[in-house]
Amino acid sequence: MYCPNCGKRMRKEKGDYKYVESGLRNIILHRIEIYRCRHCGEVIPKIPQVKELHRAIAEHLFKKDSLLSGEEIRFLRKQMDLRAVDLAAILGVTKVTVSRWETGKERISPPADRAIRLLYRLLQDFDTKDVLKTFSRIRRRKESQKLAAQQEMRSDKWAIASSGP
Ligand SMILES: [Zn+2]
Repeated sequence: MYCPNCGKRMRKEKGDYKYVESGLRNIILHRIEIYRCRHCGEVIPKIPQVKELHRAIAEHLFKKDSLLSGEEIRFLRKQMDLRAVDLAAILGVTKVTVSRWETGKERISPPADRAIRLLYRLLQDFDTKDVLKTFSRIRRRKESQKLAAQQEMRSDKWAIASSGP
């Protein structure tokens, strides 16, 4: 491989690599293939099985025993393939709030932290569009009345209808 920076030949070696591209500061990949340029110092890692790796990181975050940090929230959101505005709609908060969590300007609340973890699991079994549609329908009091009529579900044996605000 040739260095994209200076065009010189790069040397292949094995070593530990701090996986900052994940957006997380504490992920170190042990003994992976790394291409290093001795002329300009450019380093290009060969990240093995990216999909599996990202799933493993997400599982680790799901089980984490302290509140998610901003960068961890962002990682999980990307892993779920959600835009900030979509995550906000699902959780019933504003996009600004999601952004404040992710940039570390605001600590996430315990219920929101748990909701994000559960959402991550939920989206492994359910279609993202369905979940988004369902959750973004839950409105504040003022708008909920007119929506009630649309939320009726029925079969020939029963019917479910939301009653009032
Ligand atoms: Zn170089």
